[in-house]
Amino acid sequence: MSKQKQRNIAIIGSGLVGSLLSIYLKNHGHQVTIFDRRPDIRTVAFSGRSINLAMSNRGWKTLRNLGLEDEIKKIAIPLHQRALHVNDKPVYFQKYGKEGEAIWSISRGILNRKMIDLAEDFGVQFRFNEKVWDVSLPEAKIFTGKSEKSKWKEYQYDIIFGCDGAFSRVRHRMQRRSRFDYSQDFIDVGYKELTIPPNDDGTHRLDKNSFHIWPRGKFMLIAMPNIDGSFTCTLFLPFEGEVSFETISSKSEAKAFFKKYFPNVRKEIEDLTKSFMANPTSAMVTMKCYPWTYWDKVALVGDAAHAVVPFYGQGMNAGFEDISVLNDLINEFGDDWETIFTTYQKVRKPNADAIAELSYRNFMEMSSKTADSNFLLQKKIEKHFSKKHPDKWIPVYSRVTFSDRPYAEALKIGDYQEGIMKRILQIPNIDNLWDSWEVEQRILELLDA
Ligand SMILES: Cc1cc2nc3c(=O)[nH]c(=O)nc-3n(C[C@H](O)[C@H](O)[C@H](O)COP(=O)(O)OP(=O)(O)OC[C@H]3O[C@@H](n4cnc5c(N)ncnc54)[C@H](O)[C@@H]3O)c2cc1C
Repeated sequence: MSKQKQRNIAIIGSGLVGSLLSIYLKNHGHQVTIFDRRPDIRTVAFSGRSINLAMSNRGWKTLRNLGLEDEIKKIAIPLHQRALHVNDKPVYFQKYGKEGEAIWSISRGILNRKMIDLAEDFGVQFRFNEKVWDVSLPEAKIFTGKSEKSKWKEYQYDIIFGCDGAFSRVRHRMQRRSRFDYSQDFIDVGYKELTIPPNDDGTHRLDKNSFHIWPRGKFMLIAMPNIDGSFTCTLFLPFEGEVSFETISSKSEAKAFFKKYFPNVRKEIEDLTKSFMANPTSAMVTMKCYPWTYWDKVALVGDAAHAVVPFYGQGMNAGFEDISVLNDLINEFGDDWETIFTTYQKVRKPNADAIAELSYRNFMEMSSKTADSNFLLQKKIEKHFSKKHPDKWIPVYSRVTFSDRPYAEALKIGDYQEGIMKRILQIPNIDNLWDSWEVEQRILELLDA
């Protein structure tokens, strides 16, 4: 651990990223206060079934460094494979990585409660129900209050971290500066959450160690298990168009939609039509910005700096990786916060852009390509080849999910591998030759070219 001079630090946002960052900063000897506009999530009733997230290597690494991995694994379920539910075909299982590699399903709410408990144990102060309306960047001051027009309270800190999510107020203040780049792109697809309840004896109704996907071209349904025996399902569907949220506006339309496209799972979903009408339809956004820091005073971390669409399951993982990088830089540069911040944003920005691109592309892969026979053949060839030559071919999914090499590297190598596979798939009779010596040699040649 570095020996930093103690600073008085404010974190805006007690979400997953803010609460984990606070523990790291406490470990470096700082005074840390977290502000959140919401009430304490530990006092809010929820069933533990809403949004579950996939935690993978980058997230675990950041928890492991604090000795928290084993404790958090107790509230997570390992998923070793995808279970593809293609219409009229038996369920097709596709292993994610090598033996023993898994992503972990975890409830966002349960995890967030746990992280706040842990942060409190470490001595972090929380100020819930206190919304930050504005920030003075050069003075590291924050202003909170009941409303934008009410009288504000002013707080002075040495350093402020904006961990206030995709619609960050801290970033909003940075945006008003000259030469601040900002873009926000909503995709045309929305999502709605539904639940598959447990069996009467508390067991899961589907294989609990699989990430279930019902790919249907322009839309898809997914399901991830919860520790109470239920599954959280997410329906991703275009907002407008022939088959879309817009065209399903009544219970009977919802029923007909599920009967046509998801006949096998329709009966499992709890109060399907009622939930469909009652649960909100949410939007998804990619948000990019730069710079992420201001002098040695303010830094954005997590979704506040880089929000991505959820199709690679990496948003939280990327936010946790930001924390690992900051921690390494603190250890390297000690009290030189300006160097810590400028290096942090330089190192992370290309990787945040890369995971944004990979996440966007993965929607196409999950919804349409997973049901495509050419794509499945390609995956089979890749898997076969990488098993024989693990040093020569690591699939892009594994690079993103099971390694901690930079996202930008995964994107670059993934594009290169894709080019090779396009040529391999053109080999005559590849359906039968896919595991032959000739194909293996051809891939080796193309890799050496
Ligand atoms: C459907 C869906 C599925 C996802 N699946 C995955 C997945 O499988 N794996 C994965 O890694 N990621 C996933 N993600 C992404 C993940 O949820 C986010 O990346 C992560 O929650 C970001 O954490 P954060 O702490 O940066 O922001 P948030 O979780 O948004 O937290 C921000 C906090 O700041 C507070 N706040 C905001 N404004 C203010 C203010 N002005 N004053 C005070 N407090 C404020 C908020 O109340 C909140 O508590 C998914 C996201 C979605 C939408």
